[in-house]
Amino acid sequence: MSDFPKYRGELEYVCLGCGRIFPMDELYYTCPQCGGVFLLRDNNFDQLKEFSGREWRDTFDSRMASKDTRLKGIFRFYELIAPVLEKEDIVYLGEANTPIIPASSGLREKIGRDFAYKNDGQNPSASFKDRGMACAFSFLHKLVREKGWDKVLTICASTGDTSASAALYGAYSGEAVRTVVLLPEGKVTPQQMAQPLGSGALVLEVGGVFDDCMKVVEYLADNYRVALLNSKNAWRILGQESYAYEIAQWYDWDVGFKAVFVPIGNAGNITAIMRGFLKIHDLGIIHKLPRIFGVQTAHADPVYRYYQSQKGEREYRPVSVRPSVAQAAMIGNPVSFPRVRALVDEYEYIAGDQSFNVIQVSEQEIIEGMLLANRHGHIACTQGGECLAGLKKAVRAEMLHPEEEAVLDATAHMLKFIGFQEMYFNNEFPPGYEIVPDKDMVNRPQTLISENERNGHSDSEYARLAGDRVVEMLGLDSR
Ligand SMILES: *Cc1c(COP(=O)(O)O)cnc(C)c1O
Ligand SMILES: [Zn+2]
Repeated sequence: MSDFPKYRGELEYVCLGCGRIFPMDELYYTCPQCGGVFLLRDNNFDQLKEFSGREWRDTFDSRMASKDTRLKGIFRFYELIAPVLEKEDIVYLGEANTPIIPASSGLREKIGRDFAYKNDGQNPSASFKDRGMACAFSFLHKLVREKGWDKVLTICASTGDTSASAALYGAYSGEAVRTVVLLPEGKVTPQQMAQPLGSGALVLEVGGVFDDCMKVVEYLADNYRVALLNSKNAWRILGQESYAYEIAQWYDWDVGFKAVFVPIGNAGNITAIMRGFLKIHDLGIIHKLPRIFGVQTAHADPVYRYYQSQKGEREYRPVSVRPSVAQAAMIGNPVSFPRVRALVDEYEYIAGDQSFNVIQVSEQEIIEGMLLANRHGHIACTQGGECLAGLKKAVRAEMLHPEEEAVLDATAHMLKFIGFQEMYFNNEFPPGYEIVPDKDMVNRPQTLISENERNGHSDSEYARLAGDRVVEMLGLDSR
């Protein structure tokens, strides 16, 4: 049972721009012919159909109990993700297998229906990016092993979760891998800087904005042997498909009445989730697809706008972004948009017109979504708040069927985005966010007894003085 899988796929890069195909065993980031984005396709995929859906379900279920760390994370679904890796290539840092937590009863009441959060903030670097990074780094290990490289440089432009994740997996990989992170100078918070620095990555600051950093890393990837880990990287999409497989498995492979809510930034995550569900549907592992609800802030909503128009009249236009608390999704020209467009056609063909939806929410709704979730015992980041805001809208607009249960992606841990909570509680949002705190949502520390008042009191007097104040504040009953 815990044997390493025997099946091997034949993966190749398929360009969604020009349709050209490239062999797997190179470091491609985008199509060398047209600059388009790739998806990785397994030419042996149909061989997997020699086993029934039931046999696959049993295989994946039996791996849940495995103690083989190589099959514990995203590679529990080895055959569906990257069946070209050998055992020794796989890196596992405890990613994936994140819990699905039903909304607390208080929160359920507020929203008016049952739903659950899948806490992808409980990944090792505290965001879902680890799913894709575990796959990209495992593939790198394969290349290093086969080609005998003694050094590979991995590089990314990022101000947040991508760099944290890349730096973590890079640090674990040891000598052969060196990680470089490019950040726009003066435009990142101390938290965003802390993770790559702590992991020992080389952090390079670039005068300018994120897009300037991106140009530098793309130039390097076009001309030198470097592994570019931004989300155009097709290996990351493969690893992120595990999110869909885990949802299906958790609900005993019955997801026909689920509605999966996902925040959209560069659209890599929603691409991977749709592709994941489509793959297991194709293999008969699930019989019905869940519905997909992408969520975008009104401050960065090109995908929403595209799907708002009628079929046949749709025209894709990048937007210029305004400030957003859903900072990890604040992208005006999502690099994976061509992937989404291709997959939505396929998804709707199988599951019908209402099976893919995009909802637009305001900044105020996003931050209050996060605060509301967390004061009911969840650990949502702002993007997780964005999903909750999307769910609220969907409920209000009666987009969900009565029996449909929503599963919301809390893409990162709340602690990563705590600066926004602080801005809300202290009423410090710059006007561009268009957020005005509601005083019922604000929570601030209150002084019980100051250092000055404390002076001149004995310990017991002081305890009584302070204690009496608590009694008064809370109206405690004596025992
Ligand atoms: C990257 C990221 C997103 C956006 O995902 P895309 O794949 O770019 O659409 C959302 N939330 C968090 C926490 C992220 O790190
Ligand atoms: Zn191409």
